[in-house]
This record gives sequence, C-alpha cells and structure tokens, in this order.
Amino acid sequence: MRLQRALHINLDSGYYRIERIETNDILGPVDFGFREAGRNNALCFGGGAFMGSAIPGSNRLIFTGFSPCWGGFYVSTMGGAALAFDNLGVDYVALEGRARTPTVLRLLRSESEEVRVDLITVPLAEIWAQGGEGHNGFYALMRYQFERFAKDFPQPPRILAVGQAALHTDIGAIGSIPIERERLSGVDTWAGRGGLGSKLLQQHGVCGIVYGGSELVADFDDRRVVNEYFEKRYHMRLSLRDRDATTKYRYDEKLKTGGTFGVNYAKMGDKLLAFNYRSVHWPKAKREEVLKRLVHGHYLKQFNEETIDTRSFRHCGEPCPAVCKKMREEYKKDYEPYQTMGPLCGIFDQRAAERLCRAADAAGFDGIQIGGVLSWLMDLLDTGKLTPERLGLKGEASQLKPRFDPDGFDVVQDSARNAELGVKLLERVLDPNAQPTFLVGAREVAKKLGHFEDPAFIDRLIANGFGSRGWMVPNQYWVPGMLSPMPVMGKYYEYYGDDFLPPRDLGRINAERMVQELILDNLGFCRFHREWAEELGGQLVAEHFQLDTDVRAHHLNLAKRINSRNASAFWEGEGMVELLQTYLLRKRESGEKRPELGAWLDRFEAGRWDAARDFWYEIRKGVDELLGDRPAPRTTVSD
Ligand code: SF4
Repeated sequence: MRLQRALHINLDSGYYRIERIETNDILGPVDFGFREAGRNNALCFGGGAFMGSAIPGSNRLIFTGFSPCWGGFYVSTMGGAALAFDNLGVDYVALEGRARTPTVLRLLRSESEEVRVDLITVPLAEIWAQGGEGHNGFYALMRYQFERFAKDFPQPPRILAVGQAALHTDIGAIGSIPIERERLSGVDTWAGRGGLGSKLLQQHGVCGIVYGGSELVADFDDRRVVNEYFEKRYHMRLSLRDRDATTKYRYDEKLKTGGTFGVNYAKMGDKLLAFNYRSVHWPKAKREEVLKRLVHGHYLKQFNEETIDTRSFRHCGEPCPAVCKKMREEYKKDYEPYQTMGPLCGIFDQRAAERLCRAADAAGFDGIQIGGVLSWLMDLLDTGKLTPERLGLKGEASQLKPRFDPDGFDVVQDSARNAELGVKLLERVLDPNAQPTFLVGAREVAKKLGHFEDPAFIDRLIANGFGSRGWMVPNQYWVPGMLSPMPVMGKYYEYYGDDFLPPRDLGRINAERMVQELILDNLGFCRFHREWAEELGGQLVAEHFQLDTDVRAHHLNLAKRINSRNASAFWEGEGMVELLQTYLLRKRESGEKRPELGAWLDRFEAGRWDAARDFWYEIRKGVDELLGDRPAPRTTVSD
C-alpha cells in the first residue's frame, strides 16, 4: 500500500491539517477529488503516483471539483505543474470554504519541515489592471506573484493564477507559467476546461496559489527500473518508445509539421468547422476549397514558416521530449483555441488569431468555451438576429458586424476585423453590469435573449447540455462522440474517431474511453503519452507499489460512480442536431457502406428531431450498459 498525504485547507478560518491516507480506494487525485467534492464541495488538486519521477508526462497536475459551467463533477489538468508540487511533500490539496477577500495561497515546505500555509490578501482589481492589452489580467497576476513570492522558495515554485473571467463568468480557467532560469518562461499552461478558475475565485475566494519547497527524492526515480518495464514490453528503452509515441506532438516528418495545430489542420480533409459551424452545410468541394485557400494557403502556412521551420518548440515545465508547445514569440499555438478563436470565428490569419487568443488568455478564459461563445454571437450579429444594441455593444455599427462569408474573404483584413469584434465581445462578456450577464452561462443567456420567442438564439449555440443550465462547447472534431451524453464532456472522455459507429456501440466505446482516460488522469499522466501510458501505467503502479488492486476494475468503478450523477440533457438547439445529421451525410458521401448508416439517414429524413432523440438515447443506453449499476453483457461492440 502507498501511504499518501492530503493537505486540507479551510478558507473560512485559515485552519489546515494533514490527512494520512492509508487505503487502496484512493489511487490518485481523481479518486481523492471525487470523494472530497461529494463531502465538502471542495476544489482539489494533486499529482499522480509518479510525480517527480523520470517518466515523461507523469507530472500533470490534476484539478477536480463540481464545475460551475458544466454542473457535474469535473477533471481538468495542467502540464508539468506537479513537478514543483511534489516538493510540498503531500499528494493532494483540498480547498474548502471561502476566503472573504481575494487571496493568494502560499504553500511552502522548507527543508525537513511540514508544509506551511499562508493566506495573503491582495488588491486583485488593481493587479489585473496592470500591463495593458494582452499583458494584464492573468499575466499581471502571474508577474505579481512571481515578483512577490518566488524568492521565498528554496527551489523554483509553480504559480497558479486566474483572470477576470473567473470573477465575471462561469468559464474562468486556472493558468500557470513555469519558471525557468529564474524567470517566467513565457509558455502558459492551462487547466482550462470546466471553469474551475471560476470555482476557485467565486466559491473559495482564491485568485492565486504559489507552491513548492526543497527538492524531494521521487518514489520512482530510478531510470533503470523504468527502462526494464519498457524493454520487457516494447523491446526498447523508455526514451525511444516515448519519442515514437509523441511524434505527432513534436514533429511529423511525413506531414512536415507538428503539434496539435499543425497536424490537425494538415489532416483535416473535408472536415473544416468554420463560421460558427456553417461550414457543415457547405458541399464537400467548398469545404475543401476554403481549407485549401484560407487554412492551408495562409493560416497553416504562416504557422509552419514561423513556428515549425524555426523549431520554436517548448515544453510545459517538465522536461519532455514531445515539446508540444508550439510558439511564436509569446503566443502558444494549440489547435483547439486557435480553431475556436480562428476559423470558427471567421479568423484565418495568425496575427488576428494571436490578438484574440491573447486577449482571451489575459482574461483567463477557457479558450474553447469562449471561442464557442464568440462565434455564436458573431453568427447572430451577422444574421441580424441579435443587434449590437440588444447586446449592449458600443462602437460604430458598421464595425459591429463580422465578415462571415468565405466568398471574397480577405484573409488578412477580414480576419483582423473579426478579431477586433471578438475583442469587443470579450469585453462585453466580462462586463458585470451588462444584461444578460454571462455569469449564468451561455444556455441561460440564450434564454434571456429570448430563445422561446426566437429559437435562433439556442439553435446557433453549439454546446452539450447537462442538467437545466450546464453547457460545454464540444472539442473541435465533427464527430458524434463529441456530442455524446457522457458525464464529463469537453475533454476526451469519449471516442472521437471519425468512423461511423451505430450509436449504441458508440456509447459503449465512449464508456471504455472514459475508463482509460480516467486511468491517465488518476495516475497524473499527460494524455499525449497515452500510446504507452494506457498500456503500462496500470501495471507500473500496481507492481511498483505492490497493490493488490485491479487497476482497470478500480477505474471502471470510479467511472460508474461519476456516471451515477450523469444528468446530460438532450440537445436543445437545431444546430446540434444538424451537426449530427451532416456528419452522417458526410460519411455516406465518403463511401461508408454500413447499413445502419443508411437506416439512420432515412430516419432523419422522416423526422429529424425524433431521429436525433433516438440517436442520443441509444448512445446513452450504450454508456449505461458499461457504466450503469447492472451492466448488460457486452455483445455487439463492432469497432
Ligand atoms: S506532451 Fe506537452 S504537455 Fe505533455 S508532458 Fe510533454 S510537453 Fe508537457
């Protein structure tokens, strides 16, 4: 059994205590966080069993808690941030209660001492206002904490911070910039999904956390032992296997690009999502033409010239051969935010996307959520369903309409115009005095705008629903997996391959994926190493710590417990149904021959909403067959 320690901090009183955990029921930070969320509505963070070790990708910091935007239990992760956390000498931290004024937590363990906790009140609004566009907000709070607290630590600490989105919306992220050579490295990393930054500030009164201590020897530090496992399984050393597994994220020689941005756009084919998903209604040839002209011919070309050719590759704070952070100066180019605040908002130029993404990062938004909101609002402004006055936008009317048509699109000027409008919309979303307020989430905003009178408000909002208010913009893959009724959406706790699967099968495979992804998160692994970490992670933890636990069964059980609170809501808007139907049509056009596909298309032809409802419930049945209390025997999974 592995002895674990958890630091519990009560923010009402400032009281803290250490809990010794001596049970195999808790293998990692997701187990711990799920327990604490149920007991105390706590926001928790911690590392996996291998944090601090030589295993690449094993130093992810895992945040858990009930998500303000989704409504259910959520897991959000941050690269490399468990390295400094390991020096605290605890496995997990649980935050309970609420500090009355904006507070920075300093968690410091000095040589041979227990961790010490200080709660420090800071003038948050004043700090956020420093630095000007793109350097204020989250970035200003990072600098403030670095300058004021980093010197207190014997080893470089890690610093977490939130921006204004955490105060004024339900989609604030928790961000961090690692310290390298006694400076902030400039590579920001995010636990973005789930709005846990909003939870941190609104429910716990914490705007920043600085943590670390003197170096501790990791439990699993012997590279030779790790290599033995790899030699046995793959007949090669860890470093070689890992290089192999992470090619896509570093540099793919065949595609002549790398990272999620480069590889996803290079391989996109006819699956472009642009102009708030209007592209799904275009003929295949038009999608391919726009991809070629605006993305491959400009957006991706710029990226390849500026980032790939110059090998501007960095890591997340843990020395990792994948170096997945693709940079141009201070701009980090990940696919998802540069997609939702790129083509989805009618932006196909790196300068324009950098401006908008940077403004969203400075405010500390979850990039995918806010990109989905901006493209939704732009769509409504373009069609005139929403007027600038109704939204409370200020400025010249001609500038408050996006260019939302690819025909005759000027890739530089029209992208810049859309980015400019995007920045204005960000300010509007953050305005606490404007109505409707975005504090309540986008689905509620759609209602307040009047979606019962005009369904366009909800029809054009592409988001999965949970309960009556929870919402989550899907990750940017045009596949039914991303629209599934899973208990945790917005991550990769579902199958997102492009192949057509009957929905019942899809549900079961989603559930299997959730179990695998939970293993990665609970062991603190970065999913970019999943090719080997999924196969070997469970074995490593069981054998090294001599656990008499079936690691897969443990996580299947955890997935079931999370799924027991699954309040996924059937798609509200026509846009979600269209996204599914056009996917099915695209699969038929691409030559998919499965008879089930034709049958579903016929049902959609006969009645779109009925077919969509049946499709959704079939997925849900498949999910519950594996994750319900009485799983049915697996019969027809046909992947
Ligand atoms: S793949 Fe990227 S995020 Fe993951 S550990 Fe490596 S550098 Fe960090």
